[in-house]
Amino acid sequence: MELIRQNRKTIVITVNENGEVIIKAPYFIPDSKIYSFLNEKQSWIFKQQQKIRNRINVINSYDFVNYVYVNGQKYDWKEVKQGKRKSKATFYTQEFNKNVIKRAEKWGILFEKKILFKLCNSKCIWGSCNAKNIIKLNWKMILLPIELQDYIIVHELCHTKQLNHSTKFWEEVAHLLPNYKILRNKLKEYSFLLKTDVL
Ligand SMILES: [Zn+2]
Repeated sequence: MELIRQNRKTIVITVNENGEVIIKAPYFIPDSKIYSFLNEKQSWIFKQQQKIRNRINVINSYDFVNYVYVNGQKYDWKEVKQGKRKSKATFYTQEFNKNVIKRAEKWGILFEKKILFKLCNSKCIWGSCNAKNIIKLNWKMILLPIELQDYIIVHELCHTKQLNHSTKFWEEVAHLLPNYKILRNKLKEYSFLLKTDVL
């Protein structure tokens, strides 16, 4: 636990990526006040730490040297390669086109308009959609379980109707994926993949 005294009006508690608790408090507030605030927030802190532990468990369950991951399943890279001089980048691109793009096109039929899907390579986003109905999907989506790929696809497709995150937009998403909130939260556990070198 780390207590930082600074020029501020309120106490704020955060849990960092290692699960450590950081408290920022005004200079002149007594310790007892800080501790009672900390007590009040105890269950929230535990919840945050549990989330971080889960996330770390997910990260540690991957081995990007010896395995490749397709649709959330792991495959021995040596077996997949079978002596062929294929790079992981080529493998993932092919699988992405075979799986993600194919399913995106299927979902796209429901929207009854011309939509173009493109592969993208970004360290911070899974997908994007512009006003010309060009949807860019991150190639790393191929690593995700299918239900999360579907969430990203449907999310971006719904932007062809609503180019924002309004209530109307989320209604469109819910119409196709009633459990989208669960999926949206689950996707957060995988966001580390965007910044991880998996090749
Ligand atoms: Zn969006």
